[in-house]
Amino acid sequence: MTQASDPNQDALTESCEQTHEELLRFRAAIDMSGDAVYLVDRATMRFVDVNQTACARVGYTRNELLNMGPQDLLTASREEIERVYDEVIAAGEKGVTTESPARYKDGRRSVAELHRRAMRSGEGWIIVSIARDITERKRAEQALRESEERFRGLTRLSSDWYSEQDAELRFSRFEGRHAARPGESPARMFFGMRPWEIGHAAESEGGWEAFRALQEARRPFRDFVTSRALPDGTRFYSSVSGEPMFDGDGRFTGYRSVGRDITERRRAEARIEYLATHDGLTGLPNRMMFSQTLNLAIESARRYARKFALLFIDLDRFKIINDTLGHAAGDALLKQMSARLRQSLRASDVVARLGGDEFVVLVQEVNETGEIALVARKILSGIIEPVLLAGQECRVTGSVGIAMYPADAEDEQSLMTNADIAMYLAKEEGKNNFQFYSSDIKTRSLDHIALETNLRRALERGELYLHYQAKLDFGSGAISGVEALLRWQNPELGQVPPAQFIPIAEETGLIVPIGKWVLHSACTQNMAWQREGLRPVCMAVNLSPRQFADPDLLANIAAVLSQTGMAPQWLELEITEGMVMYNTDRAIQLLRAIKQMGVRLAIDDFGTGYSSLAQLKRFPIDTLKVDRSFIRELPGDSEDKAITEAIIAMGRSLSLTIVAEGVETREQETFLRQHACDQMQGYYFSRPIAPEQFADLLGAHSLP
Ligand code: C2E
Ligand code: MG
Ligand code: MG
Repeated sequence: MTQASDPNQDALTESCEQTHEELLRFRAAIDMSGDAVYLVDRATMRFVDVNQTACARVGYTRNELLNMGPQDLLTASREEIERVYDEVIAAGEKGVTTESPARYKDGRRSVAELHRRAMRSGEGWIIVSIARDITERKRAEQALRESEERFRGLTRLSSDWYSEQDAELRFSRFEGRHAARPGESPARMFFGMRPWEIGHAAESEGGWEAFRALQEARRPFRDFVTSRALPDGTRFYSSVSGEPMFDGDGRFTGYRSVGRDITERRRAEARIEYLATHDGLTGLPNRMMFSQTLNLAIESARRYARKFALLFIDLDRFKIINDTLGHAAGDALLKQMSARLRQSLRASDVVARLGGDEFVVLVQEVNETGEIALVARKILSGIIEPVLLAGQECRVTGSVGIAMYPADAEDEQSLMTNADIAMYLAKEEGKNNFQFYSSDIKTRSLDHIALETNLRRALERGELYLHYQAKLDFGSGAISGVEALLRWQNPELGQVPPAQFIPIAEETGLIVPIGKWVLHSACTQNMAWQREGLRPVCMAVNLSPRQFADPDLLANIAAVLSQTGMAPQWLELEITEGMVMYNTDRAIQLLRAIKQMGVRLAIDDFGTGYSSLAQLKRFPIDTLKVDRSFIRELPGDSEDKAITEAIIAMGRSLSLTIVAEGVETREQETFLRQHACDQMQGYYFSRPIAPEQFADLLGAHSLP
């Protein structure tokens, strides 16, 4: 540095000339400073001196710098810098601190914190700048700002929230949307409060007490659930997880936690719980829930030596309704029935649906069986009230079985079984009634189970066969037709009467394959007689409700006719009033289709159902079979006489063939003949008999 002629240099030297030594020391100190020092002549805007730190930092040599001005290092323009310098001059002793971006020789950018002061120098000013490189600090600050912004974004965008508690466990910070309601500010609401002071309920085990103990022990926690009531009566649930914070010296400084709104999840869980314990259709408790309730009832009844009753309820004609009116009607019926059951019981009694058309009722605290009989009667009369299904008024009945605790059984399983057994007895007793369990019905009901198991195998084991009962025509005196009647001979059970096994076959649906077999066998037999040279007769085959509802029925009939080669006019299908009563439109359609095939149709057991003459007119029927119950007391009973006469007259007016069923006596025969009945069937003329016997009978009665 040998620019002795530099006036600035001279000025500096002059101002310090008293002690050259002092100056050298000062110079050394300045050079050693960690901050860069620049001296700028305000007038020329050039550096008049710089220290070594400045050279090292910006990458220029001292000589280079002395040919430069601040505008060559800073990114600001000369005018801007001049403006700042004037402020510095105006500020006097306190100087001015600014932050300014700078550019180094190698092109690196940096940020300098500049503290400037002005010093008089003759007429002009020297600006002394002490510069500190704050690039790193700025970068760290920026990074912090960005991470803070990211964090805020995260809490803003997620459904979670973040909170902090101070060392006293008071809330000190909230970020994110905590509130269940818009406009609520948790920061404002809870600031300075401890979690257990904000009035929320603790849902997790141990409650607030456990939570507080945990925080006081500085332990982390996970999924602590709290709730609070909302104005609409529902609850808002949140789940919070947190961990303690410690400073560099290991001192506890508070908690940081994240919370989450789990109201929806809770709702879903509650719904799942409800679905698992309730019947979806009726909303009644289901089997699982009832089992819990029953066990509780047993426990408390045992403890307090109380009695209670268990009622099993089964709708009698549910399957027919479901099959003929469709599932929607079946569902509607079940809903109505469950509502009626609820209505006919006290609030303390429990009704549940076990599945299908099976309901169960728990009647608590009963003293005597008389009370229960009253309840059962109430239930039955509730069920039998008419219901409107698919636009039609229907009546269903129910069968009720009752088991008492502790008299009939003391545990869940036995109580349920015994009530079920009693219910079966009620069915056997003609339905629409209730039965109490007793140990001797148990044996009877075991029979029922045995029947069902054996019946399942009866067809394949060839235990089923047919008997044939003739119909005699009053006019010609000849056999006009024959009815196929199903028989079951089981090696263990012996001869089982149709009245016992047909309802079971119907209930279980076994009647469909069995009925198909009957139809085929009967037609085959009829053709066999014809081939033997016997006069052709009409073969009547009984159809069950299930078969009538079977969508394959028409196809089955057609298949049997073509397989056996029997002309359709020799087949007559017997149906009952109940089968056509519900889904009348479908019934009419089906009956017409059958008629179109050339097959005849008969109404069996006429008079026992609810059908009226007006209804009957709509069905394409050929034959009316008057139920045996009207014939039995003939001709003694005047009411039965009147009814039978009326049925015959009505049938004639509709051009139907009238057949009297169950004719057992000569008197009955005479009465019927006199009243212009067309045909008769009954023990008086012939019992149901084996096919060979019938062939003989037919042979004997063929000739007029
Ligand atoms: P149903 O169709 O009304 O048949 C007449 C029933 O009355 C037969 O009983 C017959 O044996 C009985 N019977 C006939 N004449 C007299 C009489 O003079 N006095 C008395 N007391 N009874 C008489 P069975 O064979 O026990 O059949 C009972 C019911 O079972 C039948 O009533 C019918 O509804 C049903 N059934 C029988 N075979 C079949 C079948 O193959 N399929 C279907 N679905 N049901 C059948
Ligand atoms: Mg019949
Ligand atoms: Mg009959």
